[in-house]
Amino acid sequence: MELEDINTIAVLGAGNMGHGIAEVAAIAGYDVNMRDIKDEFVQNGYESIEWSLGKLAESDQLSQEEADAALDRVTPLVDMEEACGNADVVIEAVPEKMEIKKDVYEELEEVAPDRAIFATNTSSLSITELAGVTERPERFCGMHFFNPPVRMQLVEVISGAETDEETLEVIEDLAEDFGKSPVRVHKDSPGFIVNRILVPLMNEACWLVHENEATIAEVDSTTKYGMGLPMGSFELGDQVGNDVSYHVLDYLHEVLGDAYEPCPLLEEKVENEELGKKTGKGFYDYEDGEGAKIPTDEQSELVEKRLIASMANEAAKLIGGDVAPPESIDEATQLGAGFPDGPVKVVDEFGLGNALETLEEAHEKSGHERYEPADYLRERAEEIGSFYEPDADDEAGVEFDTIRVEYPGEMVGHVVIDRPHRMNTISDDLLEELSEAIDLLEDDDEVRAILLTGEGEKAFSAGADVQSMAAGGADPLGGVELSKKGQEVFGKLEASELPVVAGIDGYCLGGGMELATCADIRVASERSEFGQPELNLGLIPGWGGTQRLANVIGEGPAKEIILTAERYEATEMERFDFVKEVVNNDELEDAAFDLAADLAGGPPIATKYTKRAMLAGRHDTDAGLEYEAAAFGQLMATDDLMEGITAFMGDSEPEFEGK
Ligand code: NAD
Repeated sequence: MELEDINTIAVLGAGNMGHGIAEVAAIAGYDVNMRDIKDEFVQNGYESIEWSLGKLAESDQLSQEEADAALDRVTPLVDMEEACGNADVVIEAVPEKMEIKKDVYEELEEVAPDRAIFATNTSSLSITELAGVTERPERFCGMHFFNPPVRMQLVEVISGAETDEETLEVIEDLAEDFGKSPVRVHKDSPGFIVNRILVPLMNEACWLVHENEATIAEVDSTTKYGMGLPMGSFELGDQVGNDVSYHVLDYLHEVLGDAYEPCPLLEEKVENEELGKKTGKGFYDYEDGEGAKIPTDEQSELVEKRLIASMANEAAKLIGGDVAPPESIDEATQLGAGFPDGPVKVVDEFGLGNALETLEEAHEKSGHERYEPADYLRERAEEIGSFYEPDADDEAGVEFDTIRVEYPGEMVGHVVIDRPHRMNTISDDLLEELSEAIDLLEDDDEVRAILLTGEGEKAFSAGADVQSMAAGGADPLGGVELSKKGQEVFGKLEASELPVVAGIDGYCLGGGMELATCADIRVASERSEFGQPELNLGLIPGWGGTQRLANVIGEGPAKEIILTAERYEATEMERFDFVKEVVNNDELEDAAFDLAADLAGGPPIATKYTKRAMLAGRHDTDAGLEYEAAAFGQLMATDDLMEGITAFMGDSEPEFEGK
């Protein structure tokens, strides 16, 4: 089966997850039969979808027509045969009980067409065991969504022992068509990736408190402010639900043994029905108390060491057991749990030798099995010292075409946009190379700040490579992708742990100005010219400009610049506080370098945390970026864009018709 062959999707279970999965499939244009055991349950699910689509329309993430059409595509049903008799794919989201699920699959096998693929949304149960009750284990896999499916990007696609490659590929294609990011889990291993990393981490946090090695405040202060995770461990536990963590852990314990013994502290919370936010009380009190109030200054080295060691041990079991490679573990955890850096990267930075030592010390002290180092951790620690292969590129020296990376000294890494013949415009290749360059500099211990400039005197960067964009044609999907790609790479620069200085000489327009906006500090030469001309082309700034400019200079000036699409001189941009300083043309290079060198001399860890904290404190930029990309995609299909680009190239005034 191929993606094109999938038209009708049956979703079994209209609960929390089932209704969300049905909604996602309907938005993507599939006919969805949503089935539950009672009319009342399936109607509740249907109403939840209606409510959620209404919210998406209200916030303009969908048009009202799109929301209505999606709802029309969902048919609530109780009869199994009616729901599944014509399904191409069946996604099962019934309660997490082996017996219930097995009954469901037996019944399903009777009514579903032979061609249909069965995908289970189980969080922990064995895919292979479930597949065993059907007659199609090769067309059976895991498709693990995260809660809520409408918002969460990650889908783990899990292979059972007998799943064939074609099935996995088509389910990955389907997840992508749902607008999600699938990550392959090569083996049916308990907890898959994200839960396998997160739940033992939660358990370790509990053990630290239970054994009086740290307080809840210390653990959460360390996770949130020391390790830079999006939430404190206990804060996250309360959010997920202590029963949910406990349930997964209990399963890991049963299947994998005592290393996963649930900590009595967690057990107690579940017994007392202190399940977290949903019951008003968990590790924090959300009703009578003030919720998760986490001190910024109670970080503990021991906590950090132990938590990283826990991640190292779980990662070792996943990598060593061929369940998933380091890249997949990092991607899944970043998408599924909002980790700023992947856990494997964090562990590699900490050093596998240190992680091993931490586990051995703790094992000696407490004797608990959870501290027993995995064989693969020991092996890698001794042989290579990291989970990722040492970067072959690093040794060979990376070659770039569209940029240059230079090392002018004083711990500055200098990225030069090197397309002077095209006014340093930003092409697809340049985005990719910029992304690689950021990684390269961040991984380089000798580099403490990034300096970004454009080659030549004409332009820092005159924007996106308009011709290559026009060549892409009026394809909304291509537009969304183009926008997202730029947003992602620019976002990476903005979120870089290194301070970033942009030295601007010449045109700094459109995408070029969006790029400069991602720097922490900008300096400009007198002759520089700034502007966001996108609206003149019938477009919008699509690489983060609708969000980031306002963050830097405030919404009023940002609106002025974007809506008028006018050109601004360097001194005007200084008045807007967009540039720190305007200098003589021939002094720009030195001034920018001096500033970068100055920042490179600052305390790296404090700098990194300052940047993270400031970024974390912003409003919901992600929602804005999502909207920006969708709008950019829509605009790619308008006549106004062709008019705008034609006028731009012919140097005439465009006449927009609003079509
Ligand atoms: P839920 O209890 O909210 O929903 C389950 C629904 O299935 C209920 O409405 C129930 O009436 C229905 N049901 C029971 N038997 C059925 C049958 N024979 N046919 C059709 N429907 C039936 O549970 P949930 O949170 O939506 O979880 C469903 C699955 O998704 C579980 O396997 C769970 O592990 C997994 N999951 C849950 C989350 C989460 O955060 N809640 C995240 C990822 C995966």
